[in-house]
Amino acid sequence: MRFDVLTIFPEIFLSGYLSSGILGKAITKGLLKVRVVNIRDFADDPHKSTDDRPYGGGEGMVMKPEPIFKALECVDRDEGKSLTILLSPQGERFHQGLAWELCGYNQLVLVCGRYEGVDERVKELCIDREISIGDYVLTGGELPALVLMDAVARLIPGVLGNDWSAREDSFQNGLLEYPHYTRPRVFQGREVPEVLLSGDHERIRNWRRRQALKRTLERRPDLLESAALTAEDKAILRELKAEKASMDEES
Ligand code: SAM
Repeated sequence: MRFDVLTIFPEIFLSGYLSSGILGKAITKGLLKVRVVNIRDFADDPHKSTDDRPYGGGEGMVMKPEPIFKALECVDRDEGKSLTILLSPQGERFHQGLAWELCGYNQLVLVCGRYEGVDERVKELCIDREISIGDYVLTGGELPALVLMDAVARLIPGVLGNDWSAREDSFQNGLLEYPHYTRPRVFQGREVPEVLLSGDHERIRNWRRRQALKRTLERRPDLLESAALTAEDKAILRELKAEKASMDEES
């Protein structure tokens, strides 16, 4: 898969995050290609300006359409499926399901805004989709682009050491994931749950499913409305709710 990122701060992508850890390895292995395009290179005035004052007045600056438009024209389009995305707090909210959907493309072209955002005509003419990483406003689209790239890249076959680990993650099956433990067996007086040391795979599987249901019920009950639940899951949830009701009564 290939990402083309359009930004006025290419150094954010060229140093650090993308060269470290799993993403760095994926790039070295050729599973992931990242090309960073400096929008400023496509500004044709002597000051290389990429922003200007807003028509109608008001605070802040707006990213000019021409440099972004020209930069997009220069992006090589892969033969497979390609999608151009503007990172924007006004876009559709990013989530795991959308990460899977985007993983089906051969190329994602990511446009990072700055200042008050980009001229509306860029959106109308060149953008396939606007994506937000949450209901808050950041100073630029670079962090949102990295968040999206990370979430999508780890779903590409071969990027994670074990492809099944992504399938067990939170949100994957509509639930939060069960808790994890590693050595030492006792830490500051707290023991690893006995079942995880039992070697009984069926018991471990059942315990993990129950913990995932419990955690989702406690922290994100909204997820349960659309999760694919078996009859056994529903029975466990009834038990968990009854346990909670009796604990509430006692306290
Ligand atoms: N004036 C804009 C508004 O109120 O909708 C906010 C502009 S923001 C300061 C500058 C740029 O940061 C945006 O163009 C976008 O690229 C990026 N950005 C900020 N918050 C974001 C978010 N939650 N998700 C995605 N991109 C975001």
